[in-house]
Amino acid sequence: MEDTPKHQGLRNQLVSKLREKGIRDEAVLKVITSVPRHLFMDPSLVNFAYEDNAYPIAADQTISQPYTVAYQSQLLEVGPSDKVLEIGTGSGYQTAILLGLTPLVYTIERQQLLYKKTQRLFSKLGLRPKKHLFGDGYLGFQAEAPYDRIIVTAGAPEVPKKLLNQLKIGGKMIIPIGNKEQLMTRFTKTSSTSFDKETFGRFRFVPLLQHKN
Ligand code: SAH
Repeated sequence: MEDTPKHQGLRNQLVSKLREKGIRDEAVLKVITSVPRHLFMDPSLVNFAYEDNAYPIAADQTISQPYTVAYQSQLLEVGPSDKVLEIGTGSGYQTAILLGLTPLVYTIERQQLLYKKTQRLFSKLGLRPKKHLFGDGYLGFQAEAPYDRIIVTAGAPEVPKKLLNQLKIGGKMIIPIGNKEQLMTRFTKTSSTSFDKETFGRFRFVPLLQHKN
């Protein structure tokens, strides 16, 4: 499948909708304008790629709603030299958005089927995160810590302590916290043991799972 002027037109419309819904970060909107979301969708759902909705992908997971991707990316405030850790690679769409903001992206997925599928897609599209890992995001990725930014794209019943530890002082983590419904939360690390905590809107994510089923 390819990217066509028709897809570009649909993306422009989607970005207008995201602006209407309050997304203001021009760097984020620019990347959403350029990343072909249809290539990250399940083949049976490509026609819905530029609707502002979440859709099923492999392994009972979902590709996040564009508004959610834009909202989290905006809160993350990624600079071009920031090292970013993403938990929950899923379809790879959010990863592609992050890669449009900084080349230093590390991403972790715990579903092996999805991990392999997205690995193939990344190489097909020439997308090169610094590392695409198969594993448990609760543990983070200590080998490359500390990170300037951490983004969790699944609903966390509690805050994974290891992720907070792997954040740089001054660094930020965006994480939806809750069970059925989550409160978007941003932690800013102010010293090795202290954090500022801010909360934003309510969202619904698939759960961040601790143990492999
Ligand atoms: N950013 C993705 C969101 C996918 S949904 C996208 O837009 O496509 C959340 C993802 O988190 C799922 O792929 C799920 O398998 C993964 N996940 C859940 N628990 C995890 C964990 N403990 N570690 C890593 N990934 C996890």
